[in-house]
Amino acid sequence: MQADRSSCCYLCNSRDVRELWHATDKKFRGPGKFTYWRCSRCGLLVLHPRPTDEALSQYYPDYVTPVQPSSSFRQRLKRMVAEDWYGYGADRAAFIGLLRKAVTFPLRRLLHQVPRKRQGGRVLDIGCGSGGYLAFLANLGWTSYGVEPGPNSRGYAQRELGLTVHQGQLAACNFPDQWFDVVTMWHTIEHVPDPLSVLREIRRILKPDGAVMLSTPNIDCADAVFFQDCWYALDAPRHCFLFSSRTIRLLLEQSGFTISRLWYQYHPTVPARSLLYWLEEGGMTRTRNTLVRWSRSLELGMAISTPLRRLLGQGDTIYLEARMSPSEAGA
Ligand SMILES: [Zn+2]
Repeated sequence: MQADRSSCCYLCNSRDVRELWHATDKKFRGPGKFTYWRCSRCGLLVLHPRPTDEALSQYYPDYVTPVQPSSSFRQRLKRMVAEDWYGYGADRAAFIGLLRKAVTFPLRRLLHQVPRKRQGGRVLDIGCGSGGYLAFLANLGWTSYGVEPGPNSRGYAQRELGLTVHQGQLAACNFPDQWFDVVTMWHTIEHVPDPLSVLREIRRILKPDGAVMLSTPNIDCADAVFFQDCWYALDAPRHCFLFSSRTIRLLLEQSGFTISRLWYQYHPTVPARSLLYWLEEGGMTRTRNTLVRWSRSLELGMAISTPLRRLLGQGDTIYLEARMSPSEAGA
């Protein structure tokens, strides 16, 4: 039986777990207050009690994010970056290759979530939404699969993009052992009620030399420390777990993975929207409403201040790539 999360840490089993925040759904203004607990030993933050799946479903709007066709300027530019910097390019004369790299150099970080090319590679994106990321990988030659609980976004990915997208939870998909080269979870691991079991299922369906790539909000970033329960990426009650680089490492190690690469991103929307939540919570509604009208400028200001945020601490989002731990890969 799973230990009571309010008295025992999900990751390190410490009994020193303390109530930290009573948060509300600030994004969609759903009803209720939600309690987050922090482990004093490892720092993991957990929502407890977690509402039932049925109760939580009312907090998830199932919207479709339309995907631009591969012939659009933006998609063609992304493809150029993938070809020049991520190993997807055809052989070219050295001079042409250098010229293209000079043009696409400033854009190379746009595709930091794209895995290196694998001949005949199979990829699974868990929580794939409307399928934009998967469609891009399919265009690069990957055999692409998705898992998505939202019927509208799943339907769009299947119907409009022709993708293979499974319904519901990963465990119910029954993929064969060692089937995928890469499994991705972008902003998904913090939503699932039992991330250890999801990662262990990923370990089963991943090839021994495969990689898992994921992103998750970083509870150790300066924005979280300053804005606390008004931190935009807390996203109560949709986020059940909030990780730091330390606790996400612990989670992966307990699932049989070793992190091979970890990097941070600084998104201007996180401090900008956290500030709006903070003003509203503090009763400064007029100031908040004025800033909402200038939200584009506010986000631009935050984007310009990214170098300062880098000085203040870690980024708001952790990105990582992990491989099976040597003992697991050889098992
Ligand atoms: Zn702990």
